[in-house]
Amino acid sequence: MKKIVLLVALTLISCQPQPEKENKTPNFGIVIHGGAGTILRKNMTPEMEAQYRETLALAIQTGHAILKAGGSSQEAVEKTIHVMEDSPLFNAGKGAVLTADETIELDASFMNGATLDAGAIAGVQTIKHPISAAIAVMEDSPHVMLSGKGAEAFAASQGLELVSPEYFYTERRINALKRVKEKEQQTAFTPQEWEDFKNQKFGTVGCVALDQAGNLAAGTSTGGMTNKRWNRIGDAPIIGAGTYANNASCAISATGWGEFFIRSVVAHDIAALMEYKNLSIQEAARIVIHEKVAKLGGDGGIVGIDKQGNIAMEMNTAGMYRAHMDAQGNLTVKIYKDE
Ligand code: ASP
Repeated sequence: MKKIVLLVALTLISCQPQPEKENKTPNFGIVIHGGAGTILRKNMTPEMEAQYRETLALAIQTGHAILKAGGSSQEAVEKTIHVMEDSPLFNAGKGAVLTADETIELDASFMNGATLDAGAIAGVQTIKHPISAAIAVMEDSPHVMLSGKGAEAFAASQGLELVSPEYFYTERRINALKRVKEKEQQTAFTPQEWEDFKNQKFGTVGCVALDQAGNLAAGTSTGGMTNKRWNRIGDAPIIGAGTYANNASCAISATGWGEFFIRSVVAHDIAALMEYKNLSIQEAARIVIHEKVAKLGGDGGIVGIDKQGNIAMEMNTAGMYRAHMDAQGNLTVKIYKDE
């Protein structure tokens, strides 16, 4: 009798629908940029191009490894941007462009898409990793944006690494400042001269990421604009303009002529088009960069990622240093618009 009961019980259990085996591959992804502009093959040596591609790959692999191990999008964005801030190739951290007074003024911002917390710093001269200072403002102060000496004092109080301003200087940027100052005396430009001139002034780094928990984050770090005066601040540290992240839509980091990106509220506008009009990230980015920013006369680009891991790398310039890595580890590194 006992045997029959057992048999019936076993049969009943085996007839119950079994929960499906968890076999889903985790979804995550990361996208970076290292600045947009008139980046043309004819102006690039093979050595320079290789250096850019290698550093972009190194940076994105750093963040990808964090995401793959289950780390947060916030950590991935911060550590990826450190690699680019430490490289003299990009206009952020070491290698930042010089102001008219031959000083350095760094801007950065970060936003967490899960909590909508954000932090930013502007016009700092001694913080080695401005992106970490932006994150510290978000996490350890009651504010969103700090600037100048106060931001540096705050960073020191947080134990962040400070360096002397000379650390950031590179020969390339000293020469660029000289050239830009000479050019600014010029009253008329051919279209080609104007493009070359603009190209020497800009650059920025940025990173957006989606982690395995489904959370988005975005960060941007820059030296701003060569020959800037009067403590000019661009879009990079302005939440909604240069940086925005919201789990309801996407994470965006921008690069380009900051004044136009502030006026177009680029990063938030892309997110708003997705949230309110249900557009895809590619379509929203296309409208904002090619219709809205371009209509005002501005140029530049963005990188973005949404909750599903769909990405956008959109620009209205000849090039943008950029890279993408998906959950499977497929790596794409691009410089020119037409590749
Ligand atoms: N958007 C930055 C600024 O205007 C520069 C850049 O991204 O190239 O400060």
